[in-house]
Amino acid sequence: MSEALSELRERLAEIHDLASAASILGWDQQVMMPARGAGVRAEQLGTLGRVVHERFTDDAIGRLLDAARPEPGSTGEALVRVARRDWEKARRVPSELAAEIARAGALGHQAWVEARERSDFEAFLPFLQRNVELKLRYVECFDGYEDPYDVLLDDYEEGMTSAEVGALFAELRAELVPLIAAVAERADAVEDEVLHGEFPVAGQRALVRGVLERLGWSREGWRLDEAPHPFATSFGPGDVRLTTRYDPGYVGMALYGAIHEFGHGLYESQIDPALARTPLGEGASLGVHESQSRLWENVVARGRPFAGFLHGELARTFPEAFAGVDAEAYYRAVNRVRPSLIRVEADEATYGLHIILRFELEREMIAGTIALRDLPEVWNARMRDDLGVEVPDDARGVLQDVHWSGGDIGYFATYALGNLIAAQLWERARAELPDLDSSLAAGDGSSLRAWLGDRVHRHGRCYPPRELVARVVGGPVAVAPFVAYLRAKLGPIYGL
Ligand code: ZN
Repeated sequence: MSEALSELRERLAEIHDLASAASILGWDQQVMMPARGAGVRAEQLGTLGRVVHERFTDDAIGRLLDAARPEPGSTGEALVRVARRDWEKARRVPSELAAEIARAGALGHQAWVEARERSDFEAFLPFLQRNVELKLRYVECFDGYEDPYDVLLDDYEEGMTSAEVGALFAELRAELVPLIAAVAERADAVEDEVLHGEFPVAGQRALVRGVLERLGWSREGWRLDEAPHPFATSFGPGDVRLTTRYDPGYVGMALYGAIHEFGHGLYESQIDPALARTPLGEGASLGVHESQSRLWENVVARGRPFAGFLHGELARTFPEAFAGVDAEAYYRAVNRVRPSLIRVEADEATYGLHIILRFELEREMIAGTIALRDLPEVWNARMRDDLGVEVPDDARGVLQDVHWSGGDIGYFATYALGNLIAAQLWERARAELPDLDSSLAAGDGSSLRAWLGDRVHRHGRCYPPRELVARVVGGPVAVAPFVAYLRAKLGPIYGL
């Protein structure tokens, strides 16, 4: 390794340590911190963020990147590629603008919390306007894009363009709208009453822990805690943190939420430890990350074999609630499709339409072809057209998501890309693992876990997301496998 490359690695490791310390503070804020700690915590996070930014955008990093000369095909080469990309992006944005974006995001978030409570879009509008204005200034820091929205998308999904996502989503919508309409005509065919009832939290905790342990969670390298807005994070390959939340009246929330976060955590836990403390020791992109959570939550845990295993666990934990409910009824219940207002509560079929709506509105916000003031009206009309639901108020409409309040514009698309990639990976895994169904039916996820570890996880960010997906599934992100998967599942359930 050249001297410049090893110095670069050392500096990046130090920066990574500081960023990890900030992540731990962030985890603590959401899981442990008493509310009155928020003021000081914001200062602490601000300081660490500033130090990380200053150290990373230093001229010296640029000189080391130029002098590094890694061997072709080596991890060093991937490190230099990824670090240069991040460095150049970070250098293009003046620190005053970055600080202003962060500040406006914090204010926007606070305003959104209050506006959503009162369902008052007017109160939130000036903050949204400010966030969009700042994002447009952010876009101006870059050049060489076809569409300004590409710049924002690239922050979450490297290399994806608006045109490409737009084409995928147009195809997806054309498939989903008639499929969901056909299901809606037979809505009575599936009930999910079994999931609602009395499920004491102590029992749910034990259940969730037991299921996660079967999937690969272990006390030695993971934690499971509770948080109002569940998430997963990790501070290295041996320290993965999951959170979930419990609803004593609905058993699906904690169980499926925890399995979702497990998918994220497993990705982090199986990244090659040699990549730890470098910019390569992370997921390839948000879309690829989300493909992992959705693969475990939806494809595995709502698939017939593993749903059978889950049914057995539930029936053992809650014998009264599950008396007379067989595995087939449970499987149907967890796959009920019903158009609804709230994205985070949507089933896997209607979910895509929630995302497409947000993606298209964001493109228009950035292109300036929609007046922000008109967002509620456009939102409500689209929900009626696409999903056939009436939006009763903005809290359950345009104000429901946190993302725009903090300035996260360009993020939503990665959720639906995750669903598409998950179906592609699943198609491949089934072809390569002939005993997959029988092992999942026994509650054993080890073969899929190992397969994902080998094909996807261990590489971290060594390949750009597009290349990683192509290496595993043999082509670009595509709609057809997801639609085929949905049809194969919903056809028999709904008698289509
Ligand atoms: Zn997720």
